[in-house]
Amino acid sequence: MHRRSFVAGLGALWLPSLARAEAPLAQDPFGLGVASGHPKPDSVVLWTRLLAAERTQPLTGSFSVGWTIAEDERLARVVRRGEAVAEPRWGHAVHVEVDGLKPGRPYWYRFVVNGKESPTGRTLTAPEPAERVPLLRFAFASCQQYEQGYYAALRHMAGEELNAVLFLGDYIYESSWGRHHVRHHDGGRPTLLFEFRNRYALYKSDPDLQAAHAAHPWIVTWDDHEVANDYADDISPEDHDPKQFLAIRAAAYQAYWEHMPLPNSMQPRGPSLRLYDHYRFGGLAELFVIDDRQYRAHNACHAERIRDRMLVDCAERLDATRTMLGTAQEAWFADGLKRASAHWNLLAQQTLMAEAGRRLKDGKLAFWGDGWDGYPAARRKLLDAVAASPVKDTVVMSGDVHSFWAADLKQDFAAPKSRTIATEFVGGSITSQGFSNERVRSLLHENPDLRYGLGGAYGYGHIALDSKAASISFRTVNDVRDPKSGIATPARFVVEAGDPGVKSA
Ligand code: FE
Ligand code: CA
Repeated sequence: MHRRSFVAGLGALWLPSLARAEAPLAQDPFGLGVASGHPKPDSVVLWTRLLAAERTQPLTGSFSVGWTIAEDERLARVVRRGEAVAEPRWGHAVHVEVDGLKPGRPYWYRFVVNGKESPTGRTLTAPEPAERVPLLRFAFASCQQYEQGYYAALRHMAGEELNAVLFLGDYIYESSWGRHHVRHHDGGRPTLLFEFRNRYALYKSDPDLQAAHAAHPWIVTWDDHEVANDYADDISPEDHDPKQFLAIRAAAYQAYWEHMPLPNSMQPRGPSLRLYDHYRFGGLAELFVIDDRQYRAHNACHAERIRDRMLVDCAERLDATRTMLGTAQEAWFADGLKRASAHWNLLAQQTLMAEAGRRLKDGKLAFWGDGWDGYPAARRKLLDAVAASPVKDTVVMSGDVHSFWAADLKQDFAAPKSRTIATEFVGGSITSQGFSNERVRSLLHENPDLRYGLGGAYGYGHIALDSKAASISFRTVNDVRDPKSGIATPARFVVEAGDPGVKSA
């Protein structure tokens, strides 16, 4: 590896004429920041991506990138160092899997290329599986449409003390939409690899997003907008031809992997990327990260049944064979919950799990067909697995709906008096516009399992866990249009161990 990277480095220096219009390294080759993720007791993934002088120009040739990880912020007590190759075929992204680390402690890291140093990032390994961990803290967030606001929420998140950030999807948006834009995408809808790379580069040029990555390890899953709006497996509402859409999905998945601190084992193969994953944080919590996009059944019913973007109820919605996770992930999830043995099960996933129906004027019920309400049989299966777990305390963290929610999850939503088996929290959106407060109030009124809702606010959720309780706070910025906005905590909840359900704190 050493030798290969040395030679590759020489190539970049001495053979510029080999490549077409070789774009040189940027003055600041680390202009997209640094990141870490996939925190395990003895390892983390360190990430960066080299930039060309023009952000949207491809950088050609391979580069040798040095990395250092240390026990202190000044990188004096170095524990490991090495070299990685930044290659054109992976967009000059670097994913370094550092192992041999100590559990449950912070590390600091830095990259260097052609004598230029990156900013220093901080990361944190997970505690040892058997350790009695007194406290865990996570932020959970989703939906950061770049045009609709600034990332002040992420700057505040960077200042929190966290074990990890859980990012639950819509990291980029493929489309330009919404009102009152504060800044703009620099292209149309991406469908090719270089276009997706450029979209990530634009989002990642934001200093507050970089700060949140540099401060904490991130654990990530995706939703639809990393690829195409409301897509399901091999089709999207705008791309009906599966062959064409899978080519777009392959480009989108590759760009996603390139820009996230994910391990090499998750490198995509064509339009496939196994993203679902399991983490353990000592004896206190196990975390299941779910992918409900890649394998899901196509959306139910016909377009003409959709009113105001809500799906009018139909027989197909209830079809028992309609999957959300796909057979393999479903089995993996059920097996993981059956064998769970920490105090808490945590689920990090995309979209609202609680039922949120709306009664239309003609008396018919309507649901959000792209979320779990469009897949009630699959939701029942997942909740059956939750109920069958020997661990009786499960907290679900969700994104997608661009509003804050706290909800009781029933094993059977058709039996409203049935027992609450888990508790769900949706941490709003970082910037993406969503439900008005009026819409939120009517949903609260019609769905008793939705215990709290907040619309027209932007930010993230914070969860602190010990063996007795989970404490959840919703953090909202004062003004999403102000990059320097302050932050407030408009709502706090507790979930007591042994007694699932939302309680106000
Ligand atoms: Fe979103
Ligand atoms: Ca979404």
